[in-house]
Amino acid sequence: MKFEQYSTDALMILTKRPPLVFTEGAGMWVTDHTGKRYLDFVQGWAVNCLGHSPQCIQDALGVQVKKIINSSPAFFNAPSIELAALLTQNSCFDRVFFANSGAEANEGAIKLARKWGKKNKGGAYEIITFNDSFHGRTLATMSASGKPGWDTLFAPQVPGFPKAQLNELASVEKLITSNTVAIMLEPIQGEAGVVPASKEFMQQLRSLTQQHGLLLIVDEVQTGMGRTGELFGYQLSQITPDIMTLGKGIGGGVPLAALLCREEIACFEPGDQGGTYNGNPLMTAVGLAVLKSLLQPAFLPSVKEKSEHLRARLRQLSAQHGLAGERGEGLLRALQLGKDIGPQIVEAARDLNPVGLLLNSPRPDLLRFMPALNVTIEEIDQMMSTLSDLITQFN
Ligand SMILES: *Cc1c(COP(=O)(O)O)cnc(C)c1O
Repeated sequence: MKFEQYSTDALMILTKRPPLVFTEGAGMWVTDHTGKRYLDFVQGWAVNCLGHSPQCIQDALGVQVKKIINSSPAFFNAPSIELAALLTQNSCFDRVFFANSGAEANEGAIKLARKWGKKNKGGAYEIITFNDSFHGRTLATMSASGKPGWDTLFAPQVPGFPKAQLNELASVEKLITSNTVAIMLEPIQGEAGVVPASKEFMQQLRSLTQQHGLLLIVDEVQTGMGRTGELFGYQLSQITPDIMTLGKGIGGGVPLAALLCREEIACFEPGDQGGTYNGNPLMTAVGLAVLKSLLQPAFLPSVKEKSEHLRARLRQLSAQHGLAGERGEGLLRALQLGKDIGPQIVEAARDLNPVGLLLNSPRPDLLRFMPALNVTIEEIDQMMSTLSDLITQFN
């Protein structure tokens, strides 16, 4: 089939898309409408944590779709009960609310913090967030985000999100007032270009919030579910946050997200929070299959092993070509190019023949790598050798 045979005019134009229609995916590979294959190091933006259409998701969907698809949030369903229990057994949290997207989980976190502030801190509602952070595309989560330009894009913003600078404690301390209820951050800023909060900074934020009686909220939509080599990113700094949000990897490709909190924070009352599809058995059955895969004893050690390999290869490449280095945790890594050649590399990699390579450049001077967590060493090496040729060409 030719691309021209698809009429795309009925779709809203939201981003410049290449003239490709992806029709199939398996593991680290996708196929387009012409039958061309691509090695996929984007994986739906760190969403497909087990690759495209893994067997365990096919099985979970197949079984659950025959049992019950939607039982309504007014009633209990078995997969959501089981998934919530498994999440709490494997984290520092006690209660879970399921959502359909990362932004919706973060909206829930913001509402939970405001409710807690109303009950416990005289109506304090401000949540300190960070420059360059990304928390989603609803009005409140856009307001919480520190993405340049978003403060005016759909003005007026939702008030109550003063911005501090990541890894600079004084910039946070300066913003604390009697209106402050929480501090919210990504353990690694993903969209900003894989910028980790240091372990020291995470620990400082934990003591600062304890000292002032504030909540610490971690947005783990990108860093959670094994991405960093730990099940959750906060475990890298050995802290205990009060609230965590999950998205992306938790559904392995289907729309599923979660808001988790510790018992003493769980202050929603009936009527405060909900949603038609929230915690539906079809999606939570998939989440359960994904989490069980990540909890296999050999799984996270293998993520660490692969990430060490990717890290070493990226460092080697950077040294060879005189680039600016690499950073990240686990299988969320960035190569700093030192020049604004990221978008050209992404385009050239995709257009390679006979086999393309899908990469992502969230900032023009870097590439971000977010392969499936079960990527093989051979697939990493194949990507690295293609990338090395491209960098020779553009550097
Ligand atoms: C992707 C992302 C979100 C938004 O998730 P959606 O499912 O797109 O709403 C929020 N926070 C972080 C850190 C993300 O990476």
